[in-house]
Amino acid sequence: MLIRSLLIMTAAIALGLSSPARAQEAEVCDASSEWDGAAFANAMSLTTLEWTPFDRMEWGWETYLPLIQREIGSRCAPSSGRFAQALAAFQIRYQLPANGVFDAATFQVLRGLLQERRPFVMARVRLEPCPAPPSLSDLGYLVAEEEHADRLTRLLRRDVLDAYRNMVAAARAEVWEVANDPEKLQIFSGFRDPEADAARCAQQGNCDGLRRAVCSPHRTGTAVDLYVGHAPGLAVDDTSPASRLYMSQTPTYQWLVRNAGRFGFVNYVYEPWHWEWVGPTSESGGR
Ligand SMILES: [Zn+2]
Repeated sequence: MLIRSLLIMTAAIALGLSSPARAQEAEVCDASSEWDGAAFANAMSLTTLEWTPFDRMEWGWETYLPLIQREIGSRCAPSSGRFAQALAAFQIRYQLPANGVFDAATFQVLRGLLQERRPFVMARVRLEPCPAPPSLSDLGYLVAEEEHADRLTRLLRRDVLDAYRNMVAAARAEVWEVANDPEKLQIFSGFRDPEADAARCAQQGNCDGLRRAVCSPHRTGTAVDLYVGHAPGLAVDDTSPASRLYMSQTPTYQWLVRNAGRFGFVNYVYEPWHWEWVGPTSESGGR
């Protein structure tokens, strides 16, 4: 058994699979011509697909590309045969028509998988009561450099704050954009006191369909809104398609998609800035 493991490890190293960067270099994006049609369809729909993945019409699916690439295990462009082939393998796994063409049904499966990694969401799906906020002694204070100037938030659960700090240190070392811009990955919302949240939403007339007032994941002290960049003139948490597309293309966000799982954080698909700490899991630690 040990010898077999060693052989597999040696083979992986020989193939250049010992690090994500090497794996990226090693990935060949050409595939057999049987995927040409799907690759063409994906290249077209990437920016033109008219669909309603959430509440309003969107054009194209570029915003979700980093998450899709990670989930299908390919960093090849949607115009490549390899992307279509990897998408088809994903479709087979989830009993979808395995044509390698991106569509709304495939996205709904992917969105469901990502939502299932959020214990907060699953507890709500099971109609469990809204979780109680942590005790004050479990919360730690952010330092000034960790807070985004737009909205001071101050507190996070201590263990989550530790994980966040480890993640930011890694991002600084691995992403030029984060290394050069202290604003990137600053927190603009952490722990939100449920009572203050309810009062604020009533005062501002913005209760986000009552969701925020009734039960926000931020009450747990494990959710963070991270600054990943923002489209000029739009807020750091603007949900318009243009805003989210912009964010999804920043090196900071793309690094988070590939690496936040190592530190126990998972993303909410609709909000590039919203991450929840769930603890390191094998599912969230993939490519
Ligand atoms: Zn949030």
